[in-house]
Amino acid sequence: MRRHGNRVTPVKLQGAAVGDYARAPLGGRQKELQDRLDQAEARYRALAERLPIITYVAAMDVQGSFSYISPQVQALLGYAPEEWTAGRSLWLRRMHPEDRPRILPLLGRAHKGGRRFSAEYRLLDRTGRAKWILDESEVIRNAAGDPLLIQGTWTEITERKRMEQETAGRGRELASSKSELEQFISVASHELKAPLRRISNLGEMLAQRFKDGLTAQAEGLLAQIMDSAAVMQGLVAGLVKYGEADPRAPLSAVDLSAAVQHAVRELTEEIAGSGARVTCGTLPTVWAEPALLERVLYNLLDNAIKFRGKEPPRVHVSAEESAKQWIISVRDNGIGIHPRQAQRIFSIFDRLHAPKEYAGVGLGLAVCKKIIERFGGRIWVESEPEEGSTFHFTLLPPPKEGAM
Ligand code: ADP
Repeated sequence: MRRHGNRVTPVKLQGAAVGDYARAPLGGRQKELQDRLDQAEARYRALAERLPIITYVAAMDVQGSFSYISPQVQALLGYAPEEWTAGRSLWLRRMHPEDRPRILPLLGRAHKGGRRFSAEYRLLDRTGRAKWILDESEVIRNAAGDPLLIQGTWTEITERKRMEQETAGRGRELASSKSELEQFISVASHELKAPLRRISNLGEMLAQRFKDGLTAQAEGLLAQIMDSAAVMQGLVAGLVKYGEADPRAPLSAVDLSAAVQHAVRELTEEIAGSGARVTCGTLPTVWAEPALLERVLYNLLDNAIKFRGKEPPRVHVSAEESAKQWIISVRDNGIGIHPRQAQRIFSIFDRLHAPKEYAGVGLGLAVCKKIIERFGGRIWVESEPEEGSTFHFTLLPPPKEGAM
């Protein structure tokens, strides 16, 4: 190494410097050492120049004063190695102007602290096209521990960056469209509540005040209006509930057995009224949000009781571990579902029966799906008409300590 003022030039890696040094008269032992050094350097060079990454040696400044850069740089950026080592701060000039304010202080601090430097930024090639590189370097010191120079590598990551940006863009789109949809549902359902209440109040008023003046036909029409208003109120209440199943709720370890018991308590009337029996296997602790998980179990148990066959409902909740996740199953002995319908029942407002046959608006399973997916799981049904149904959903175990 030689020092030029503040600049340190590693003699052995620069063609011109090697020549200067080689011209100095050498003694026998010194000559042998020099030969060995030359061979080692040639091996290093051959290796460095075959690597798919660019290696370099530079001074400890933030100008990019290279004393060596491997020839692969030309294919990437269109400038020959000599242009990089010519000392005209080509590196600084070709750095994307938007990246300079971020990179230069970072590099300065790494040098000052003698730390490794690692950063991703853009360099403009000869035609002005931006290439993303990962620049990783470290400070090389002499035997006394004084910093001498920087040795580093550039790896091109343009393609990876492009894919990252694309994915991030799609994620943002999805997140915003999802929250827009959810916002819409929540606002629309709340806004619909008041005029609906007014329709049914006015209907009731009409029926009471003009009871004697209404013809049978008018009474019939009024009853239909009231029925429709009641159905619509049910739909709106369901939508409000759907909107309330907050997908951003934080997750924690939840005792599934306690959640089932909670749902069963809420269904006391339905269970007593139908003579249902709800039983449980051994249930695990899962990664979920307690109130939302209780909502899922409530909806599934409520359906298992509601869509009962001739026999009193028998419902069994069990769990099985498979591929590092839990499969929870809610099995009933009810009317069953045709496999053809197995998908659509999880969509908003999709139901297989008229409200008169079985009360409901077709939102319970859509809510379950939204919640289970929020927990990182999926939900599906296995069923045959008249054979009962088994709803399965997957949940993750709580993350191990230290991984949270
Ligand atoms: P709702 O219960 O309000 O109709 P859901 O979204 O909970 O809405 O269910 C959608 C449809 O799926 C129901 O209308 C019913 O046809 C069918 N279904 C749900 N659970 C069961 C079940 N346990 N047994 C038979 N059919 C079911």
